[in-house]
Amino acid sequence: MPAPYDFHIHTTYLKCANETMTVPALVERCESLGLEAIAITDHLNAPEFLPQHALIKQDLAAIHSDMRIYFGAEVNVIDKDTGAVSIDEAQLAEGGFELVIGGPHTSYFSEPDKPAIIDLQHKLMLAVIANPLVDVLVHPWWFGAGEFKPGGPMEWLTDMEQIPDWHAKEIADAALAHGCAVEANHSAFFTENQYGPAFRETYPHYLASFAQRGVPISISTDAHDINRLNGIHEMMDILERVGVTREQLWTPEMRKPR
Ligand SMILES: [Zn+2]
Ligand SMILES: [Zn+2]
Repeated sequence: MPAPYDFHIHTTYLKCANETMTVPALVERCESLGLEAIAITDHLNAPEFLPQHALIKQDLAAIHSDMRIYFGAEVNVIDKDTGAVSIDEAQLAEGGFELVIGGPHTSYFSEPDKPAIIDLQHKLMLAVIANPLVDVLVHPWWFGAGEFKPGGPMEWLTDMEQIPDWHAKEIADAALAHGCAVEANHSAFFTENQYGPAFRETYPHYLASFAQRGVPISISTDAHDINRLNGIHEMMDILERVGVTREQLWTPEMRKPR
């Protein structure tokens, strides 16, 4: 079945996505992919980026679409000791964001201390889930390609068997308690070279374990280039192969009351 949604999309305004990702162009592409609802969630790593987000909002106001289009932001962990993220209530209100997605974006380690890396990453994910402003935990266990270079600190993350199941259970319990969804992110895991076949084989089962525990799955491409938006249907195929159904997908209507 084709994917109905894509709730993690970047734009050219924040300079992380390329020039193909203008708001009108990405909306048009999502319409042609047959999506019912999307969210634009560009990076808000610090409050000085709020004016660029206002430009996205302005573009959206001028667009008429039959899709439901949500205006959101992706935030980062800014304090590895507390798990605090790069948005507060005032910035949420100032930006007018309808949803917030977020998670850690680095291991915070320069040495390959596997147990310590797993332990910290797990704690940071729990802190993000417990944050009342965050609706979706993004790309759990994604690390930048630089952390996976041969001999690099993340070389051990060859498959999800490295992460004990009790971690997934704790994440699921926290997600259910705090009304947070867990993301199935196509670009982060299924297009970049840092993840090999064993990882790509085991990761969908990790995602399915959340759905089985009742945690809604937020399906996304995390596209930074317009041609990456097409990956949303492959993401749905991957989820369906491990038994995740459309009914188990998250939508922003389910987000926590603020
Ligand atoms: Zn991210
Ligand atoms: Zn992203």
